[in-house]
Amino acid sequence: MIQTRKLALACPQCGSPDIFYSCTPNCCYNHVCADCQTTFEPATRLRGGAVTGIIPPDPLPDATDPTTECAKCTSNAVYTTQDGSVVCGDCGTLLTLEITQIAPGA
Ligand SMILES: [Zn+2]
Ligand SMILES: [Zn+2]
Repeated sequence: MIQTRKLALACPQCGSPDIFYSCTPNCCYNHVCADCQTTFEPATRLRGGAVTGIIPPDPLPDATDPTTECAKCTSNAVYTTQDGSVVCGDCGTLLTLEITQIAPGA
């Protein structure tokens, strides 16, 4: 079994871990940095390979926690494993996280 934790993102501009998800998955993946107000959208790419036996984080992420979408099945159940890999909790696909649409704050 593979224990996971909530997806952790760092601001691409200042490196702060205080990131909030400001939209909803059926709209976009716009995130905001609490420190410098930079906005960005995380996305995933297939890394190759898949794993089984993923245990979702406990507690599950809430609505403002960073999230993104699985490049394969479009699930929002994208988590980080203990070795720092990004994986889809629904289909088990190993993913690479990318930061797109970076708009630096004031
Ligand atoms: Zn920042
Ligand atoms: Zn998936």
